[in-house]
Amino acid sequence: RLFLDRIKTIDPQLNSFITVSDELALQQAKAADTLLANGNATSLTGIPIAHKDLFCTQGTLTTCGSNILNNFIPPYESTVTSRFQQAGAVMLGKTNMDEFAMGSSNENSFYGAVKNPWDLNKVPGGSSGGSAAAVSAGLAVAATGTDTGGSIRQPASFCGITGLKPTYGRVSRFGMIAYASSLDQGGPMAKSAEDCAHLMQAMGGFDDKDSTSSETPNDDYLTNLNAPLTGLTIGLPKEYFGEGLDSKVADTINTAVKEFEKLGATIKDVSLPNLQLSIPAYYVIAPSEASSNLSRFDGVRFGHRCENPKDLMDMYTRSRAEGFGREVQKRIMVGTYALSEGYYDAYYLKAQKIRRLIKEDFVNALKEVDVIMGPVAPTTAFGLGSKTSDPVAMYLEDIYTLSVNLAGIPAMSVPAGFVDGMPVGLQIMGDYFAEAKLLNIAHQYQ
Ligand code: GLN
Repeated sequence: RLFLDRIKTIDPQLNSFITVSDELALQQAKAADTLLANGNATSLTGIPIAHKDLFCTQGTLTTCGSNILNNFIPPYESTVTSRFQQAGAVMLGKTNMDEFAMGSSNENSFYGAVKNPWDLNKVPGGSSGGSAAAVSAGLAVAATGTDTGGSIRQPASFCGITGLKPTYGRVSRFGMIAYASSLDQGGPMAKSAEDCAHLMQAMGGFDDKDSTSSETPNDDYLTNLNAPLTGLTIGLPKEYFGEGLDSKVADTINTAVKEFEKLGATIKDVSLPNLQLSIPAYYVIAPSEASSNLSRFDGVRFGHRCENPKDLMDMYTRSRAEGFGREVQKRIMVGTYALSEGYYDAYYLKAQKIRRLIKEDFVNALKEVDVIMGPVAPTTAFGLGSKTSDPVAMYLEDIYTLSVNLAGIPAMSVPAGFVDGMPVGLQIMGDYFAEAKLLNIAHQYQ
């Protein structure tokens, strides 16, 4: 009730929720009381959390931030949300997001922009901006997010919370509305690494409903949280500290790195030479996959259908034109173009080759060091509307996050300080399935 009341009084300013499920939350809280009374509780039993509105929740509206799904009530539950249900967590509602997770500022939502709780004139980051703002403002204990090219880490950085993008395949994508299937990964967003560890206990692990789910057993993320960091080697990639990085953000990151030296870590320079190529490669691969994934929204089986269609083609085209926002339409067109005959080799195939080089950069660097650190984003949260008319400036915000998804490795955003009153996130990137290590490192720092 405390959290539902806070949402009622505070969220009109933030717009972080698309749906608040009051009744269901109170029912689940009652059920949690029974679990607790019977001694069947987990650490998540009765904990009020929020879910990004692209996790399908049976019986609860799931919009993906889009007008095309403004009436979609899923007949089934995503694996992630059902695992939280089984653990006894309480769902407060569904959080706002960029439409189909396409964006870096949460200004692409059909349901309106989300505001940053630290400064209501600034963006919370995107695309999991609703989840980040809700956790940051204390409207939920924790939330789920998804990260295709930075959408957990960048909003976590902008809103001063902790977020983890797991290894690709660690968290099931079943029931998660697809943006770019080879990059999408769900993960936790919370106030601390320790809270993220509790969430990962429930979220992670093999799922036979997702063909790309990894059979690597889910780790125990809690037992090593307190391990000391002596002997840890941290790599600093020079490409993460070059042109484009705000100098005050750089200072904050360098100060954080010094803290790790005090905790017993050794710092080494490493290189990720193909970083610059991550933006062009990502912005070919992600729209290509999106153009294919989004073909299912045709006005026939579910979602928005235009009124009085003349014929089948009229129904397809008008339903999609009315249902999808501008950014989504743009990406469908870019992706369709990149996949079309004659262009596939020049764009999509080339981007896939670059992806391989980026992955090899990480594999090589992680032979020399245990983890890699750098900024999450080149700046702190920017002003609402300040980049909406300049797509290149908006895409440049993703420079430090995209390559992690292209490689499939795990990475975190951890609060590292403030610049002019706005939070700055430190990024910690690790080897495949090293989530427990990342959480341990972040927890020691926090
Ligand atoms: N900003 C990137 C994009 O717009 C990443 C979004 C995401 O991770 N979902 O595609």
